[in-house]
Amino acid sequence: RIAYVNGRYVAHADAFVHIEDRGYQFADGVYEVCEVARGFIVDMPRHLGRLNRSLTELSIDWPVTRGVLPIIMREVVRRNHVTDGLVYLQVTRGVASRDFVFPAGTKPSLVVTARKADPAAAEKRAESGIKVITVLENRWDRVDIKSVGLLPNVLAKQKAKEAGAQEAWFVDADGTVKEGGSSNAWIITRDGVLVTRPAEHGILRGITRTTLFEVAAKLGLKIEERGFSVAEAKAAREVFISSATTIAMPIVAIDGAPVANGHPGSITLSLRHAFFDVAEKSPA
Ligand code: PLP
Repeated sequence: RIAYVNGRYVAHADAFVHIEDRGYQFADGVYEVCEVARGFIVDMPRHLGRLNRSLTELSIDWPVTRGVLPIIMREVVRRNHVTDGLVYLQVTRGVASRDFVFPAGTKPSLVVTARKADPAAAEKRAESGIKVITVLENRWDRVDIKSVGLLPNVLAKQKAKEAGAQEAWFVDADGTVKEGGSSNAWIITRDGVLVTRPAEHGILRGITRTTLFEVAAKLGLKIEERGFSVAEAKAAREVFISSATTIAMPIVAIDGAPVANGHPGSITLSLRHAFFDVAEKSPA
């Protein structure tokens, strides 16, 4: 495997950043994950748009010009022979003697990696559906920034794994569902209306979520952007999560209680299967 690190393509096993990188010391950095499907990078311009927002919110400079990053991403995908999988990119504020305040004159660090995934295995997962647990929201107030500070997400997803589930939903004290540890949360009502909470505050504005709005429009489905509770989700017709790597993934149990008949919902699967046609495809 080959990785890109600060201007060089190197063997993955020999790809290092310095011990005083601020990503390592302070989680002072941001990232993006793009799906690679059938030889295309999915929704790359939207991911780069969100990267720009994350960098701006944290006053981190672009590590390379915006036009160069797609070239590096493509090159990493190509060198790793990925036709289905993902491309990961991470930007940190750079290397400097440890000090909380922004160091002067530091160059941001850029790392890009890619890895293969098995689309057949993902399809199988979607056909059986996955389980979620709920955990009390304990993250900071700026989860709209795609920061590498993911310790609450790590702990929540580990807890899910130990409970035999694949995702954890962060839930407010009043029972309102925020989002998953690495996904947005959706329900479909008895009337067939898609519901997902507004992305203005308290969640990451998922790129897959945005594209699913277009998929839903194409399929003639109605979307309501509003909060929903765990109780409403448990009683919903269908439940699913969205992220770049899972697309639309059916949820068949919440905290051990089956959703509807305990099988993936047909609307979720039709959204999933229409997704690729609607998404923007950049040749890798
Ligand atoms: N919410 C969180 C906390 C995430 O980490 C992610 C993706 O990893 C998402 C939502 C979904 O975002 P996207 O669809 O852009 O992958």
